[in-house]
Amino acid sequence: MDPGNDSARPAVVIDGSLGEGGGQVLRSSLALALVTGRPVHLHSVRAGRAKPGLMRQHLAALQLAAAIGAARVSGAEVGSREIDFIPQTILAGRWQRAIGSAGSTTLVAQTVLPALLVAEGESELVLEGGTHNPLAPPFEFLARSFVPALRAMGAELDVELVRHGFHPAGGGELRVRTRGRPLRPLAILARGELRAIRAQAIVAGLPAHVGERELAVVQQKLGIAKDRCTLVMAENGPGNVLTIDVETGSGVEVIAAFGRLGLPAERVAAEAVRDAKAFLRTPVPVGAHLADQLLLPFALAGGGSFRTLRPTTHTTTNARVIEAFLPVRIDMHDEGEGVWRVDVIRVPD
Ligand code: AMP
Repeated sequence: MDPGNDSARPAVVIDGSLGEGGGQVLRSSLALALVTGRPVHLHSVRAGRAKPGLMRQHLAALQLAAAIGAARVSGAEVGSREIDFIPQTILAGRWQRAIGSAGSTTLVAQTVLPALLVAEGESELVLEGGTHNPLAPPFEFLARSFVPALRAMGAELDVELVRHGFHPAGGGELRVRTRGRPLRPLAILARGELRAIRAQAIVAGLPAHVGERELAVVQQKLGIAKDRCTLVMAENGPGNVLTIDVETGSGVEVIAAFGRLGLPAERVAAEAVRDAKAFLRTPVPVGAHLADQLLLPFALAGGGSFRTLRPTTHTTTNARVIEAFLPVRIDMHDEGEGVWRVDVIRVPD
């Protein structure tokens, strides 16, 4: 298929091996193609990963994006490394999908959310699969870090965890409701005062002591009181995640560490505590994960700025994908002592 002949606008060509070379290059490309109405040709999809090409979760994201965009697609199969995606529209409405196994519902949601945030009308996404996957935003991050930042930009949306789903069993359900609205630029430059630190251990199909031991480590190492710690016994195990919320004047940073078979609960807690201490040490308002995820909505709003930790390859890669689609420049400046400033700047089309 020659995507260039299919639309008035030429296809954006994206090399999937760019930078991080992971699923985010694909997801951001689909999100941007939907929002801009521009066709995209992707090659070398997920070339930076041990198992390159589309996995089931990426295929689910592609299929949902195709349905919402009434798009013509080639290369929509597991293992595919080359994709053409030619969207025609954005269809707001109710979209329900079972992602299969424990594919990440939060990542699939983030693929189509930018389009639904700005499309006319109300939408509801009902996604079944994993809600708490390693290497993906856990539900709590979406609800308490990502969504509040979008609301501050004028977005109208709610997220709901209907059931927990952990890797590899899945069985979870995430719902997202939104009404399209224009996004406005936002500046998140100062952290403000530290208001509270809270921790939550979620344990599914495992003994309660897994979570109790994690929370004991957090209490001891971060010096927080017991009443700031919550143990949640969930369905659909086995699975375990520990989240630490750092609430400051500028929002909530949700730090997560996932339990793994053979990894003692104390080690899981030590990982989360290490990341929380790193965030607390450097006075930035936006953490490393939120940084890469804010770039796309900021670019759609036509600009914005934030201070964050040293940009990850997810952040630098996402910036390059966004710049390929939208008339923006994304600058990242080292301000010293671990503080970086990111500016999304509109440039002439
Ligand atoms: P990729 O590795 O290319 O599939 O992209 C993974 C995405 O998940 C990136 O946007 C990461 O920032 C995000 N992510 C991974 N782990 C977390 C976490 N613990 N909290 C929030 N976001 C995460």
